[in-house]
Amino acid sequence: MAYSPLTDRRRLILQASALAGAALMPAAWTPAVAQARLPEDPFRLGVASGEPEPDGVVLWTRLAPRPTEPGFGMGSAPVRVSWEIAEDEGLKRVVRRGRTLAVAEAGHSVHVEVQGLRPDRWYWYRFFAGGHSSQVARTRTAPLPGATPDRLKVAFASCQKWEDGFYAAHAGIAADAPDLVLFLGDYIYERKPSDKALRRHPEGEAADLAGYRLRHAWYKADPDLQAAHAAAPWLVTWDDHEVANDYGGDAAGAQSGPGFLARRAAAYQVYYENMPLRRRSRPVGPAMSLYRSLGWGDLAALDMLDTRQHRPAPTCLAEIDANDSKRIPASCAERDAPDRSLLGATQEAWLHRRLKASRARWNLMGQQYLMGPLGLDKGQVSNDGWDGYVQTRRRLMETWRDHRVSNPVVLGGDIHTFFAGDLALKHGDRPVATEFVGGSISSKGIENKNLGPLRFFNPHLKYAEGETRGYGLIEVGRDAARIAFRGVADATVRGSPVRDIAAFAIASGEAGVKPA
Ligand code: FE
Ligand code: CA
Repeated sequence: MAYSPLTDRRRLILQASALAGAALMPAAWTPAVAQARLPEDPFRLGVASGEPEPDGVVLWTRLAPRPTEPGFGMGSAPVRVSWEIAEDEGLKRVVRRGRTLAVAEAGHSVHVEVQGLRPDRWYWYRFFAGGHSSQVARTRTAPLPGATPDRLKVAFASCQKWEDGFYAAHAGIAADAPDLVLFLGDYIYERKPSDKALRRHPEGEAADLAGYRLRHAWYKADPDLQAAHAAAPWLVTWDDHEVANDYGGDAAGAQSGPGFLARRAAAYQVYYENMPLRRRSRPVGPAMSLYRSLGWGDLAALDMLDTRQHRPAPTCLAEIDANDSKRIPASCAERDAPDRSLLGATQEAWLHRRLKASRARWNLMGQQYLMGPLGLDKGQVSNDGWDGYVQTRRRLMETWRDHRVSNPVVLGGDIHTFFAGDLALKHGDRPVATEFVGGSISSKGIENKNLGPLRFFNPHLKYAEGETRGYGLIEVGRDAARIAFRGVADATVRGSPVRDIAAFAIASGEAGVKPA
């Protein structure tokens, strides 16, 4: 639809989010040029929302008429973008509208922090630019802190390697109409295309601003991913492939120090440009503030963790394969070092403070991995997740137990395999929490023939399925939660149907995996 709400020809002076290098700081007041009509639809990457609070939400878009071309069909000039948000799907009852600038230094992305909305209700929004209108998308606000909502429905997903499959799982998320979508990492994969890819993007490994921007655009151009973004607000965190395989802190394989941090700065900037995040997450060089907490009345609190940026560099790699942090000897002494924190001291202290003060009935945690121990064959473990940071995990479980944190439920990704497991301090102890890993949207997982031995060595894992793609859906009520693993029939087929492949129930006060 061609629509221009901006007939006002006053010479507006708008604050540009003109950005200086990677610092992403507002730098100048830029006079907006008289808005040219754009010859092509600039909303080819869709729209998104995120970070819902009781009074507002973030609205996002990124202008790119040609998503798969370097330059994206955009020039270097700022482009005026306006937006509106309404209480009805037909956008008749608009409650807020505004305008901003999309600038080249921010990849022509737009992040609008809408305020003044009413709590605990749905809204509809759209953007306008250059005589074009975006699609209309749905979002919502959170309940007030003192509210007593009956339910919260959250989809949790991760690992959407574009080359490995279609995004039927995202179409499923949109159809399930959750209140929130958690994306728990590997939103893009940075590596060069594989010859065996089901669908193939042409360029090599993403390692700089241009490369990451192009990779995000290839992914975001997918209509099913856009549909999932348009269905509900998202809360996102990252894993390794948003930057580089298996990186930790300031090191990735042979790359470390300033060279790697320059790459990390580019990746973080582009991640921010492409996600519906608040300004407080805007990166400064290679640093970005991503861990945070969201409240849902007295029903639930949701902690989103960043387990990549603040951890120390991987250890014990040389003992088996210097290029593989997925296998180290379980006897590696550094795994047990008290000062090696997967979260870093500051984030870990924040998390423990928040959990100790929590009044929520359900304390959900969005993070990257299977949290429980995963013993591999030959006496080996992976040190890419919690198994490499044993004391961080122990301290968290002790806080859950000693402070009687109400109903901790851990949601994870990374391993491209559905897992449901009990989390206990020692094998055989009563579980202190329950965890669910929501498979992968499209990335290939562990073959089921290899899961039998894994479950034999790890009896706290009650369910495992590695050959089905999909996501998890948790519906939290006052007295119980239901968790469904949603599986795609065939992820090599666009639009393939989604169904429950397993379902579990947690009664309030009773940690541990039980069938629904
Ligand atoms: Fe992955
Ligand atoms: Ca990963």
